[in-house]
Amino acid sequence: MKQTLKIRGMHCASCAVIIGKELKNAEGVQSIDVNVGTESAKIDFDENKTSVETLSKKLEPLGYGFIMEDEHTGHSGGDMEHMDHAGMNMQKSEKLAELAEMKRKLIAAIPLAALSLFVMAWDISAKLGWVRGAPASVSAFFSYLLPLAATYVLFVVGRPYITGVYRFLRFGSANMDTLVGIGTLVAYLYSIIVSALKGPLASFINVENLYFDVVIIVITFVYLGEYLEAKSKLKTGDAIEKLLNLQAKFALVLRDGKEVEIPISEVMHGNLIVIKPAGKIPVDGVITEGSSYIDESMITGEPLAVKKTVNDAVVAGTINTSGSFVFKATKVGSETMLARIIQMVEEAQGSRAPIQALADRISGIFVPVVLSVAFASLAAWLLIGSHYLPFSQALSFGLVSFVSVLVIACPCALGLATPTAIIVGVGKGAREGILIKDAATLEKLHKANVVVVDKTGTITKGKPEVISVKNLSSKSENEIVALLASLEKKSEHPLAHAIVSYADEKKITAFVVENFEALKGKGVRANIGGIQYYAGNARLMEELRLPFDKKVIEEETLNGKTPIILATAQEVLGIVLVADAIKPEAVEAVRRLHALGMRVIMLTGDDKNTAAYIAKQAGIDDVVAEVMPEDKLNKIKALQAEGKIVVMAGDGVNDAPALAQADIGIAMATGTDVAIESAGITLLHGDISKLVKAISLSKLTMRGIKQNLFWAFFYNIIGIPLAAGLFYPLFGWLLNPIFAGMAMAFSSVSVVGNSLRLKTIKL
Ligand code: ADP
Ligand code: MG
Repeated sequence: MKQTLKIRGMHCASCAVIIGKELKNAEGVQSIDVNVGTESAKIDFDENKTSVETLSKKLEPLGYGFIMEDEHTGHSGGDMEHMDHAGMNMQKSEKLAELAEMKRKLIAAIPLAALSLFVMAWDISAKLGWVRGAPASVSAFFSYLLPLAATYVLFVVGRPYITGVYRFLRFGSANMDTLVGIGTLVAYLYSIIVSALKGPLASFINVENLYFDVVIIVITFVYLGEYLEAKSKLKTGDAIEKLLNLQAKFALVLRDGKEVEIPISEVMHGNLIVIKPAGKIPVDGVITEGSSYIDESMITGEPLAVKKTVNDAVVAGTINTSGSFVFKATKVGSETMLARIIQMVEEAQGSRAPIQALADRISGIFVPVVLSVAFASLAAWLLIGSHYLPFSQALSFGLVSFVSVLVIACPCALGLATPTAIIVGVGKGAREGILIKDAATLEKLHKANVVVVDKTGTITKGKPEVISVKNLSSKSENEIVALLASLEKKSEHPLAHAIVSYADEKKITAFVVENFEALKGKGVRANIGGIQYYAGNARLMEELRLPFDKKVIEEETLNGKTPIILATAQEVLGIVLVADAIKPEAVEAVRRLHALGMRVIMLTGDDKNTAAYIAKQAGIDDVVAEVMPEDKLNKIKALQAEGKIVVMAGDGVNDAPALAQADIGIAMATGTDVAIESAGITLLHGDISKLVKAISLSKLTMRGIKQNLFWAFFYNIIGIPLAAGLFYPLFGWLLNPIFAGMAMAFSSVSVVGNSLRLKTIKL
C-alpha cells in the first residue's frame, strides 16, 4: 500500500535521513522517501506485515511520529475523498501551536541573551580599559545569575538539542540538534565543573574563562533562527491552502422542486444544483438550465469571465457572477478538477528535484564529518596549540573551536535549499494556471532550448471557420456541405467542428453515415447511402490516386486557408476552405521565447502553404508541415539526437506520442477537459503566453535553488575552517561561538527567505 504521511517533529535534512534509515529496514516496508520541505514521507508498505501505527511507534523514541488524520477527524490518512482536508488544517493548527510555544520560550530567552551580551561586552571593554570594571558585588551577582540562566535556556528552551544528544548516545543517530546539543552541553558542563572545582583547577587553567553566556546566546540565536524559519516555511506552502479555500462547503440541491442546502460531501452524481448570483460552484457539472458569466480565473488564470449556457461545463471552485442557473453534478469529491489539481500540486511540491540529490548526499555524511572535525580541532588545539600557547589558553581556544564548529556546520540550510524553492515554484505556477507534475519537470524545463508547437489550438485559436466552398461537381453546393458535415459529425478534429457548425448555421441537414473511420493526419471516411466518401487533405487525395491539382487552391493556401477536400473513391467533388485566426498573444509569446534564447518550431499536419503563412505571421523560425502524427514524434527524436532539449506544446489529444517523447511535454488544456496526468506540465488556459511563463518560472526557481545552495554551502565552507581556528595562526582569527550561532540562524532564515522572495517576482 502506498501512502503519503505527514511527520511531526522533523525540521532538517538529517531528520529525513534518520527517519528514512529507521523505516527502510523496518518489517513490511518496501520503500520510503522522506521530504523535509513538506515534512512528509511517501511510503510503500505491506499492510499485512505492518501498519502506520506500528511504524509511527518506531519513530517515537527518536522524537518523530506520523500525524494520524483519523485520530482527529475519523478519516483515514491521505484520503482526499471529501476534500474537507481536515488533516491539512489540523497539520496547520498543530504547526501554529508549535510556533506559539516557540515564541513563548523565546520571550524568556531573548532578555537573558541580551543581558549576557551586555555583561560580556562590559567585561571585554573593561579588559581593554575603555570602561571601569564591574564592582565586585555586581560580578558576584552575575556569577550566580548566569549559570542559572544557562541551565534554564539549555534545558528548557534548548530541550530539542538535549534530546538530540540523548538520541545520539542511545541510538547512535545524530542530526543537527545533536550537533548544537553536544556543543552547548560540553561548554555548559565544562563551565559547571570549573566553577565547582575552582581551587584545585586554578593551577592548570584559567578559571575565569566560563561559557555560560555563550550557551545562553548560542541557544537563543539558533532557536530564534529555527522559529523564523518555521514561520516562513509555513508561508511557502500557502498555495495549497488558497486552492483549498476555493472549495465551497455547501451546495444548494434541488429535491422534489425544493432547494435544500447540503454539505458538499453529500452531493451525488446527477444531483441538480442551483447557483445564485455570486455563488461558488461546489462540484463539476453541466448546466441544464439558465446561463451566466463565470469567473474561472482562480483555476485557469484567465482574467475574463466566461459565458456559459445550457450544456456547458462548470468547474468546482469557480465563481458565478450575476446570472443564476441549474447544473447537473457530473464529478464530485476527489473526481473534481479542483481536487485533482490540489492533489497534483501537493504531489509535485513533495517530489524530489534531481538537483537535491547532491545536497542530500552531503547532509547524510555531514553530521559524522562535522563531529569528527570538531573533535579533531579540539585535539589539535590541545596537542599542537599548547606548544605555542599557554595550556589554559589552548584549552579555552579548543573549547571555543569545538563549540563553534558544531554550531556553524549544521546542515539545516542545505536541506531546505531545494524543497522550499520547489514548493514556492510549484505553488506559484498553480496560481497562474500552470500545473507542474513534479519537481524533475520543473528542473528540466530551465535547460530547454527548442520549443516545438502544434499549429492548431496553440498558435491559432483552434476555432476555424468556413470561408468559402468550391464546388467541382454536378451536385449542388448545399449537397457538398451536407455530405462533408455528415462525415465530420463524428470527428473530434477542430476542422470538423468548423464544417459542422457551418452546416448548422445554414440549416443544412446531415445524412446518416455508416462505417465512420478517422484517418489520422489525413482526414475521415464513411459510407453514405452505400457510397464511400472521403474528406481530408491533399495527401489523402494522393493516396486515393485521385487527380487533384493543388493549383486550384494555391491562392487560398498562400493566404493561410486550410483546404478540406470531399471526394468519393473515383473523383474529387468539392473543397471547403477554412481559416483559423492566429492567437493575438502568439506573436508576443514567440518573441519572448526568442528573447529567452529558444528556437521555435511549428509542426503541423496542415498544408505547406497554409502553415508557412501562419508561421510567418507568428514570427516562427521553422515550420514542418504536412506531417503525420508519427512524424511529429520522429522530428522530436531527431532534435533530441542533435542534443537539443525539447519542449513540446500541444493540445494533448493527437499529439500524445510527441508530448511523451519530448523532454518536457506541455499540454494546453482547452476549457475544462484536462488530461492532467498526460503531460509534465498542463496549462489550464490554452494560451501560449503561459508557456513562456512556465519557462520563466522554471528558470526563476532553479536560480533560487542555486542561490540557496550557494548560501547554504558558503556558510559551511567558510565557517568550518574559521570556527576550527585554522586561520588563527595566520591572521589571529577565531570564530566566537556567538557568531557561529548567528551565522547558523541567518543561513537557514536567508535560504527560506530567498525562496519566499520568489513568490513576489513577476513572471
Ligand atoms: P494538426 O493538429 O497539426 O492540424 P493533425 O494530424 O490533427 O495535425 O491533422 C493533419 C491534417 O489532416 C489536417 O491539417 C487536415 O488537413 C487533415 N485532417 C485531419 N482530420 C481531419 C478531419 N476530420 N477532416 C478533414 N481533414 C482532416
Ligand atoms: Mg492538432
